[in-house]
Amino acid sequence: MSRLQTPIRRNDTVIITTGKDRGKKGRVIKVVTEKNRLIVEGVNLIKRHTRPNPAKNVKGGIVSREASLHASNVQLVCPECGAMTRIGRKVLADGRKVRTCRKCEGVVDK
Ligand SMILES: [Zn+2]
Repeated sequence: MSRLQTPIRRNDTVIITTGKDRGKKGRVIKVVTEKNRLIVEGVNLIKRHTRPNPAKNVKGGIVSREASLHASNVQLVCPECGAMTRIGRKVLADGRKVRTCRKCEGVVDK
């Protein structure tokens, strides 16, 4: 297992590269850095059966929600060139560290 932390961040657009949702694109809504897992909007949906709990105002039924994916199963979609890409890093003239697209060399972080 890799110790490297994923460079993917919340609000990035990613594409799923393996599994039943392969090829789907979505926005990252949560990153669990210590587990290298992330939750992508509308991807890896699981159905959860919930029991009604009036005390907590929870209705019973089947609820779809996103389950987390391992970060190695997604790739960033570059906001500049639209390609799926690996992420590079560079330091700008003003000292800011940013992520870059390995395809177009564009800056991913705005
Ligand atoms: Zn790019």
